[in-house]
Amino acid sequence: MPNEIIVKGNPKIPNIALTFDDGPGKVTPYILDVLRRHGAKATFFCLGYCIDKNIVDKDYTGKYITGSEVVKRANDEGHLIAVHSYDHLALPGLTDEEILNNELSRTKNIITNLIGKTPMYFRPPYGSINDRVNNIAKALDLKTVLWSCRSADSSTEPAVILDGSLKYKYGPVDIYNNIMRNTGNGSIILCHDGHSGTHEANFGIISALDRAIPKLQQKGFNFVTVDDLLATGNYVIQD
Ligand SMILES: [Zn+2]
Repeated sequence: MPNEIIVKGNPKIPNIALTFDDGPGKVTPYILDVLRRHGAKATFFCLGYCIDKNIVDKDYTGKYITGSEVVKRANDEGHLIAVHSYDHLALPGLTDEEILNNELSRTKNIITNLIGKTPMYFRPPYGSINDRVNNIAKALDLKTVLWSCRSADSSTEPAVILDGSLKYKYGPVDIYNNIMRNTGNGSIILCHDGHSGTHEANFGIISALDRAIPKLQQKGFNFVTVDDLLATGNYVIQD
């Protein structure tokens, strides 16, 4: 039996899991501020490479903060820290040993050593997974989680990315609309706090979430970690 691939929580319970991939990055502290302001919990699928990177940014007090400090803060504030990979390679193209040693167990150990908790969840870069990758995740006691709703915050203009620069396709209003249009009971929403470990995330996600979270809370939704989302059982897995 391959590992389950979880795509959504219980469709009858008004819980939502916001998930952030590819960080920690410059946008992460601002996302944490928004989550704190609205009492929302979320899950961060981190890249080991971004945790290891020394300087993330100056925060608004002018102090330099490192990737590891940002992840510690997220953990201290009740968010769930999970594994994306080390450096965002498409895992099906790697050997078993590379997936295990260079990507998954490496990142799992970085997180465990940093926050003193063993991560239990994994999301493959690009959502790219096969039975072989999924069984390696299972051997490491990592549950695989994809998503049911895209904020599309990481969509870029293809012509622009070719010349080495990166222009995001959607601003805060579009991202807000993408979230509001597709979110419901048990949604796992895909957002980003970095971009494949190379570029900074779309800062439009900050104000999009600052608007979307209270709006959805007014409608009776709770923002919970992936762990809490799945704790109610009856979650949805990919066929
Ligand atoms: Zn990613």
